[in-house]
Amino acid sequence: MTTEAAAGTEPALVVDERAQLEATLAELESRPASKFRSVAAPAAAVERRACALGLDDLAMRAKLMRADVLTRAGRSERGGQWAHHVLAWAQEHEHPFLLARAHRVLSNFYRQVGDISEGLTHAVQGVAHLTDDEPPGIRARHLMTLAVALDESGSTAEGDRRFREALSIATALGDLDLTINILNNMAYTAYENEDEPGARALVAHMREVQARGPRNFSALELDTIARIEMMSGHYDAAEETLHVMLDVGQSTVDMHEGDAPAVCLLTLAEARRLGHRYAAAQEALDAAVRWAEERGLDRVRAQAREEQAALYATTGRFREAYEEHRAFHKAATALHSAQREARARALQAVFEATEARRASEHFREMAHRDALTGLYNRRYVNERLPALLGEALVRRTPMSLAILDLDHFKRVNDTLSHHTGDVVLQQIAQLLLEAVHGPMIAARMGGEEFLLIMPGLTADEAAERCERLRLRIRAHAWEPITGALPVTTSIGVTTSDDGRGSPSSLLSLADRNLYVAKREGRDRVVADV
Ligand code: GH3
Ligand code: MG
Ligand code: MG
Repeated sequence: MTTEAAAGTEPALVVDERAQLEATLAELESRPASKFRSVAAPAAAVERRACALGLDDLAMRAKLMRADVLTRAGRSERGGQWAHHVLAWAQEHEHPFLLARAHRVLSNFYRQVGDISEGLTHAVQGVAHLTDDEPPGIRARHLMTLAVALDESGSTAEGDRRFREALSIATALGDLDLTINILNNMAYTAYENEDEPGARALVAHMREVQARGPRNFSALELDTIARIEMMSGHYDAAEETLHVMLDVGQSTVDMHEGDAPAVCLLTLAEARRLGHRYAAAQEALDAAVRWAEERGLDRVRAQAREEQAALYATTGRFREAYEEHRAFHKAATALHSAQREARARALQAVFEATEARRASEHFREMAHRDALTGLYNRRYVNERLPALLGEALVRRTPMSLAILDLDHFKRVNDTLSHHTGDVVLQQIAQLLLEAVHGPMIAARMGGEEFLLIMPGLTADEAAERCERLRLRIRAHAWEPITGALPVTTSIGVTTSDDGRGSPSSLLSLADRNLYVAKREGRDRVVADV
């Protein structure tokens, strides 16, 4: 059911619920990235309710939020499929709001499954589809996604430009959460590019912003800061940054982000090892292993083995270091192949969804086209005309129809050939296509009979168009095709001034006018009297 249909049956009720659901969605969409998991259950509830009410656009908005959560939580297979589903809907309905957001979620999806170039393509689209009336905070988030994708693709300068643009928007808004989020991404990028002074300046900036508000650093942000401190050999400072992660129960750190706490504990272990505090390093490492094993975080568990091997080696326990290193190697290999399989599955699922949509679009399109001329066919007219007439009725605008029938067409077939007849029909189709503008539609109803649908055209305008078309057809250079035989048409036009009348009654009025045109000598236009 469409939104219009639902609004038509229970206007007041649905409009009311629509506003409520929209308000809920807006609230969910505005939650900070660090609280992304809190969005999943309410978004699912909104999706169910919106579906039940036939509010498709709101259902899609809710579904996309769920796809975003799945992608961020590392369950990319279903996340990618859902995001593609929403993208397809948004493309079909030319819905810029959802287009921009679906592309952004897909950018994250593709980066996560290791397809950097698709990640960049979608990030670019995610910015391109933003309209001028989007809230600036959304623009900043989309620019940040683009910056990360650009950086990963090796375009550091281009990425930096978007980062700075996003940062200045977030700063102007006074949105501390978003500002820190952007700075964290910038700092981590600088760390990865081994730009130590740049990374340190960004950490200073993060601390300064954080001090202005009540928000604590999240585990991921603490990890970025600590890694940058370690870059400069400041192991004590890194330890200072991360020790809050040890007493997780009382910690004020935001724990929502998947494996981030375990990653932090590993970084802490490494900082302590490099700072020659081996017993403390083992303590942090044990905490990381517990955290990873309790939650089935295989990747962090494997990394912990590598850190353990390094710690054994530093303290002279070479035999154990060797064994641990072998265990790490085995786990890492198994992990890689599992990840590769998961990636392949995710990409395959998304690919199949896209292909299925293309195929069904193709078949739907084929079913609506006439094979000889490529014009729309009678089936299409039967499906489309009632809706167009309905729109005219709602808007109280005119709707004109014209039936065209070639004159003495049998002669072309009989004296020349059926093939020549076909060529004539194809030429006529071209002339019709040249004559249609804007919302007008040309169709072949069968044989040598065509239909023009002219939404918004008054009786006079339609008659004038048809007269020009008739002259155009008779003036066409037919000689090379039909020799001495002329090609002319008779046209019957009819108009509903305000959309009233049924498709079949309008078609039979046009047909009656066509019959008059034939009877009065052909090669003429007859409109309503
Ligand atoms: P009128 O001016 O009264 O319309 O005469 P007409 O000869 O055009 O009318 P009639 O309906 O008697 O003949 C239509 C002809 O169109 C009959 C058929 O052979 C031909 N025709 C229908 N479909 C096709 C087609 O796909 N290709 C070709 N070449 N001819 C077709
Ligand atoms: Mg005919
Ligand atoms: Mg005819």
